[in-house]
Amino acid sequence: MTLYIPLLVYCQIKDFVELCDLEISGLGKISKYRDGFLVEKVKLLEQEVSGANTKMDAAGLGKLYHEIIQEEGNLAGWKLWWHSHADMSTFWSGKDIETIDDFDNETPNNNWWLSVVFNHRMDWKARLDVYHPSHITINLDYLKVEQIYSQEIREDCRLQIAQKVREIKVSYKKEDPIELPLDTPLTKEFFKKILPELRKKSLSYNPPLDVL
Ligand SMILES: [Zn+2]
Repeated sequence: MTLYIPLLVYCQIKDFVELCDLEISGLGKISKYRDGFLVEKVKLLEQEVSGANTKMDAAGLGKLYHEIIQEEGNLAGWKLWWHSHADMSTFWSGKDIETIDDFDNETPNNNWWLSVVFNHRMDWKARLDVYHPSHITINLDYLKVEQIYSQEIREDCRLQIAQKVREIKVSYKKEDPIELPLDTPLTKEFFKKILPELRKKSLSYNPPLDVL
């Protein structure tokens, strides 16, 4: 399974991660894409961070959810938790696993979550947790940076192309071929006069092989 990140979103994550020496975290909006998921956008959580790894700040999460609902009307697709390990390697700490466990909505509906951790070198680790009917974890094998802005914008481009672009098919009218009667006598005159005339008009006539 692959985590696809559009170039600009990847650069934004890189900026968040690189510009802060603390283990900050945020949410991301994702959609199913090819053999995995595409990160549509990311937002930073309001958070209080102490030196060692910090657990998700519930108040910060509530504020960010509120902000997203103001902007988008709902939380659809906001199912990614990203965080930074700053200078440390990328692994799932005990606190990370507690945070991931907290994303279990304890219902059978849409009960899954994607998590990704980066560090200053932009090493990464990503996992999908499906909580229902029983909790399973699937590690993502690849991260690919896509040269698209987002799937939403890509679909809009596709729609505009369909609405605004018409292909004009140019067809070259062919002259109607002259049908030679089947009983055209294959005389000397035919080969010397008629056939060269037909060839001048770009018409081809292939006499049966046995008469050549
Ligand atoms: Zn962590």
